[in-house]
Amino acid sequence: MTNATRPLIAGNWKMNVLREAGDALARALVNRWQMAEPRNVELVLCPPSTLLSTVGNALEESTILLGAQDCHWEVEGAHTGDISASMLSDLGCRFVILGHSERRGAYGETDKKIAAKVGAAQAAGLKTIVCVGESLAERNAGKTAEIVESQLASSLPEEIFPEDTVIAYEPIWAIGSGKTPNIDEISYVHERIRAALNKRFQPEVALPILYGGSVTVGNAAEILAIQEVHGALVGGASLDVEAFCTIAESCS
Ligand code: PEP
Repeated sequence: MTNATRPLIAGNWKMNVLREAGDALARALVNRWQMAEPRNVELVLCPPSTLLSTVGNALEESTILLGAQDCHWEVEGAHTGDISASMLSDLGCRFVILGHSERRGAYGETDKKIAAKVGAAQAAGLKTIVCVGESLAERNAGKTAEIVESQLASSLPEEIFPEDTVIAYEPIWAIGSGKTPNIDEISYVHERIRAALNKRFQPEVALPILYGGSVTVGNAAEILAIQEVHGALVGGASLDVEAFCTIAESCS
């Protein structure tokens, strides 16, 4: 990893866990992580919205930061069922995941909408983890780099705080499937993302690029050792405290 900032490991609990179990899981994580610290790794936990307050309280005395899984692009208003970025900040969130493929796929979230969300989130003081990644069909058609570069170009707003931006490369076919691209493939896509970012941001910014998609204890060290991989977005394995911490420890 060549990035000057600490590697970042973000856990995405998705739509899992009820309050009591969420509180216990977050507290177990805090205890386990305290035993491991000091570590040169930043840990972020992104529970579902219903658990932000519970998990936020559990993380309060720790160095683990709270994140959310989505937000609306408007500041406030008639958006039944939605949550604004300032509501997340108000709850103690420091990060928000945006453009996850599960939201792009299930809710038809376009790059344009995601860019608006990134703008709104950063205006509310949140760091944004912006997800990009190709489908299996796009990969099979040899279009991975083209798709990722296009999503990247259109999912970041004109006005952006690069220092509050994290990119997560998440091949859709790798998420929750137990499959991952090989090391050379991950390395190639991350280098392409870096090149696109360097073109976009002058002077260049050491903005972290995470890998996400079936990261496990078994493959974390190899993936995290790739030069342009500055951390991981972890879904399933983040629900297991020992696995999540072991993945994070693979960075050091
Ligand atoms: C994710 O949800 O972003 C993810 C990468 O999931 P998993 O680690 O389970 O593949």
